[in-house]
Amino acid sequence: MAARTTSGAAPRPRAGRNWAGNVRYAARRRHTPSTVDELRRLVAGSDRIRAVGTGHSFNRLGDTTGDLVSLAGLPPTVELDPERGTVTVAAGLRYGDLATRLHAQGYALANLASLPHISVAGAVAAGTHGSGDTHGNLATAVAALELVTADGDLLTVDRADDRFAGMVVNLGALGVVTRVTLDVVPTFDVRQYVRLGLPRDALDAAFASAYSVSAFTDWRSARLDQVWRKQRADQPPPPADWLGTTAAPAQRHPVPGVPAENCTQQLGVPGPWHERLPHFRLGFTPSSGDELQSEYHVARDVAAEALAALDAVADRIAAVLQICELRTIAADPLWLSPNHGRDSLAIHFTWVGDEAAVTPVVAAVEERLAPFAPRPHWGKVFGLDPAAAYPRHADFLALLRELDPAGKFRTELLDRYFPRP
Ligand SMILES: Cc1cc2nc3c(=O)[nH]c(=O)nc-3n(C[C@H](O)[C@H](O)[C@H](O)COP(=O)(O)OP(=O)(O)OC[C@H]3O[C@@H](n4cnc5c(N)ncnc54)[C@H](O)[C@@H]3O)c2cc1C
Repeated sequence: MAARTTSGAAPRPRAGRNWAGNVRYAARRRHTPSTVDELRRLVAGSDRIRAVGTGHSFNRLGDTTGDLVSLAGLPPTVELDPERGTVTVAAGLRYGDLATRLHAQGYALANLASLPHISVAGAVAAGTHGSGDTHGNLATAVAALELVTADGDLLTVDRADDRFAGMVVNLGALGVVTRVTLDVVPTFDVRQYVRLGLPRDALDAAFASAYSVSAFTDWRSARLDQVWRKQRADQPPPPADWLGTTAAPAQRHPVPGVPAENCTQQLGVPGPWHERLPHFRLGFTPSSGDELQSEYHVARDVAAEALAALDAVADRIAAVLQICELRTIAADPLWLSPNHGRDSLAIHFTWVGDEAAVTPVVAAVEERLAPFAPRPHWGKVFGLDPAAAYPRHADFLALLRELDPAGKFRTELLDRYFPRP
């Protein structure tokens, strides 16, 4: 776990690599424009270009062999529209920075991922999610997008546009998103309780019990090790014998043995939404820091069978696992969303940071999950071809042809999953 400092504070990212360090960017040149006009000229003049966010993906989704552009140099604008119930933000802004500013003005986002360190555009482009039976992933909060398209033009699309559902989870393949409009709600407080030893057959009841729920397992015991129950502050606390669990007596980290100081406040202490919904605190290393991640979304109605199928390879999973997290996400209409058209269970694996050891286990997991039409997280480690699991695959291909006819934003990864005609 070399990347974690003793204080838990976030270390500097490794130059030229993604956050995890497993991808060395292949880009010829890197750019950080300071105005949208500069960005437009850059896109218009490049034959191969791609945006990168904060680099928290575990694969080459945010890489190119051409020009790699970060929006971190653009002004971090946040424009609230209380009448419409939206906020329009600079696409490169991190959720954590946005959340602090929104909360100060009395507003909130409905949900957040486990970490606040990621950029809005990068998270949305990859279909990033939090948890909650009634919450869609983060992309479902998007009401409009502004993007620089292949010819350098500025295009704005909103929910009234027929193409919109295909453009939100865009894998960075349709242009460089410059501004994102998100739905907001009035700010709210949350209490987070950690419970220990949940029987697997009580999972659905646990997920349904609160605003946002995560369950963690090491695949070594029949019970789930921890349940993180993030509930509205005015909801009563879980009773002492809640679903056969016991209360954690102190703060916990999801990964056994890692100090909990990196984690958001637990033990039922109320606090604002953005300091409870993520598991990890801004300014500290999220998760363990030395790791790979994979994640598969399956439909809720086959979730129990999918988990049972993984029991057959539990020993192999456990041998290279730091922790496995289970979360729920509501169905949405977005074409490339892992939650397209189906309420989902997301089965997430935080692996050890050893690619050679992890790759065969990822293959074994995919083999066991294959009967359940798994959709891998676009930004994590996977081997399977995701195309078949997306009914709007052909429509996205048509969108690629329309908005990027020369393949300026394409990459080897895109060509593999969305072959050129
Ligand atoms: C510790 C840790 C915890 C995580 N927890 C979660 C979690 O709780 N839930 C979850 O779903 N995922 C999680 N992830 C995965 C991560 O959130 C996603 O991979 C997300 O995409 C990362 O955002 P980013 O800004 O780093 O994007 P990047 O990795 O930089 O890029 C991702 C994609 O977005 C595109 N992109 C970036 N900026 C733009 C732009 N301006 N215009 C167009 N395209 C753009 C890139 O081209 C690329 O295709 C976690 C990752 C880590 C490291």
